[in-house]
Amino acid sequence: MRPTAMRPTSPKRRGLPPLVLAVCYAALVALPMLPSLISGTGHWQGAMRLASGAGIAAAVMLLLQMVTSGRFEAISGRIGIDLTMAFHKWAAPIALLLVVVHLLALIGLPDPERPGRLARRVDFLLTAPGFWEARLALVLLVILVILALLRERLSMRYQFWRAGHAVAAVALVGAVVWHAVTAGSGGAAERWIWIALALAVTVPAASVYAARFLRPASHCWRLEKIRRVAERLWLLEIVPAGEGRLSFEPGQFAWIAFGRKRLPLHDHPFSMASAPDEPGLRFLVQEAGDFTGRIGALERGIRVSVDAPHGSFVPRGQGPLILVAGGVGIAPILAILSHLARSGSDRTLRFLYAARSTAAMVPPALYQPACDALGVVPVLVSDRPEDQQGPYGPLERGPVSAALLERAFAGLDPAACEVMICGPGPMMTFVADSALQMGVPLHQISYERFSYAAGHASTKDRRVLRRFAALWGAVLGLVLLYWRV
Ligand SMILES: Cc1cc2nc3c(=O)[nH]c(=O)nc-3n(C[C@H](O)[C@H](O)[C@H](O)COP(=O)(O)OP(=O)(O)OC[C@H]3O[C@@H](n4cnc5c(N)ncnc54)[C@H](O)[C@@H]3O)c2cc1C
Repeated sequence: MRPTAMRPTSPKRRGLPPLVLAVCYAALVALPMLPSLISGTGHWQGAMRLASGAGIAAAVMLLLQMVTSGRFEAISGRIGIDLTMAFHKWAAPIALLLVVVHLLALIGLPDPERPGRLARRVDFLLTAPGFWEARLALVLLVILVILALLRERLSMRYQFWRAGHAVAAVALVGAVVWHAVTAGSGGAAERWIWIALALAVTVPAASVYAARFLRPASHCWRLEKIRRVAERLWLLEIVPAGEGRLSFEPGQFAWIAFGRKRLPLHDHPFSMASAPDEPGLRFLVQEAGDFTGRIGALERGIRVSVDAPHGSFVPRGQGPLILVAGGVGIAPILAILSHLARSGSDRTLRFLYAARSTAAMVPPALYQPACDALGVVPVLVSDRPEDQQGPYGPLERGPVSAALLERAFAGLDPAACEVMICGPGPMMTFVADSALQMGVPLHQISYERFSYAAGHASTKDRRVLRRFAALWGAVLGLVLLYWRV
């Protein structure tokens, strides 16, 4: 991201509302079905029509995977990157199911009067020279889905997995479009729709890469400072090459890559830990794996490529705000605290910060000045029993409990509170569900997951998953309608 001239932080929400996204998704699935419906051409025989509908729906869903990768704020700006990625993850197996329906409908049911027909059809699908792209697409899709679902269990470096995923996905999209264009039954209009859809999803994805590749090094950021601030936690400060600042909202995150590895493939997401109007950007990075495990070896002055801002973990309300941070989840909370202090906010604030031990906690210098300015007394929670009287004064015994949360809400009307949580998955689920039980409305509870791996779902997650299921149900409805009309 090239630093831009500073703009005031706007409370306007980026991204399309979820309902609009859902309607667009369903409409795009239906679009390639229209030409044959309008013209009356195409396969009108029952099973072939079902095959055609299921194939069209699967193909559009696979193309749309290109833009649900968490890079486009129009899509994930409102729903958040974790839900965008959850959608991305589950849409692919649903598309695979539709591909299975497509194949089964093509093969048809056994017919006792024509005993060899089933075998001939299977043989045709497996060997017909005209369908190589369809077979390639099927193999790629199966591999992509299996590797994505098993990713956490594979002993493969995340970076390799990601590179393989990207290459296979591009090949899959190419094969799917080729198959749709050559095998579609809706004539020229349908072919043009496929070409337009392919361009609409690949151009934005390619532009993310092109922008990085073409940007001169002089427009990148530089690593100004790096120091260890706690056990396995590093504070990084980066500055823009020239004048100007990045315009972002407190709580958002950036995709960043260091040194020569500046293509998005090497990006890692990190939340801004500084307020939008501070000079430069601060990040708090926890050693978690291959890249972050070597973060301390980065040299000062190294080039930093920044793609930002992203994310929707931003305070929205005006009422009392309860901030709950766990471990490195303190990063976006630091940005929010600092922003509220610097903008002279008069919101009532409560702040809970939990870590596995005091050694893993960031120094109070990172949050205490903001807390002092806001009149907030941080509640510090350590999981280690020996830490109850640590260097930071009295500590509460972790993990975060219902009793601690009730204390955070003391004297406040939960219905008026906004609750923001960032930390380990189980902690976020517990706090979100507890806040809901205490009477905080669901839409006033927000959290950001630092890992896309499925964890124990909260009530809010389950509600979102139900909405995803409703959308995929609508897609299935469209296929059935196309079949039966
Ligand atoms: C929205 C968001 C904000 C985040 N903010 C912070 C932060 O402020 N500070 C912080 O320390 N961590 C943050 N993380 C987590 C951080 O991105 C990962 O810990 C880091 O990328 C791990 O990289 P690695 O190569 O060291 O680990 P690896 O061993 O490669 O991976 C460990 C796990 O980290 C995740 N991961 C790795 N690379 C990526 C990637 N490019 N994109 C997404 N996930 C990845 C995967 O789940 C992987 O299994 C954030 C994550 C997200 C999604």
